[in-house]
Amino acid sequence: MSAIRAKGTKPEIKVRRFVYSLGYHYRLHVKDLPGKPDLVFKQRKKVIFVHGCFWHHHENCKKGRLPKSRQEYWHNKIFNNVSRDIANIEKLEKMGMHVLIIWECETQKKDVMEGKITNFLNEYT
Ligand SMILES: [Zn+2]
Repeated sequence: MSAIRAKGTKPEIKVRRFVYSLGYHYRLHVKDLPGKPDLVFKQRKKVIFVHGCFWHHHENCKKGRLPKSRQEYWHNKIFNNVSRDIANIEKLEKMGMHVLIIWECETQKKDVMEGKITNFLNEYT
């Protein structure tokens, strides 16, 4: 996934900053976990992915829409990403990890993002 997603994108930094402000410790881009989750809370067995709406196809989201031109090309490309995401989440869950996806568009709504993260981190403890 590294070819299509730069490290430390803006949405990801927003998520990191908020999690940090809550006082949680996490690791970044852990390579030995499926899908290299963006934030990893090892002891809590939780991971957070910050997904771009376009590249990971956020359903019912304006930013997740495919371009009108070269539809087949985009469809295949995005479909591959989505399949990989699903497989990675399954693997993580089999390992006993809890997975949270934060979408790029959610990081633009402070309350939504903060609510999701807070609930997730408070759960299963
Ligand atoms: Zn979205």
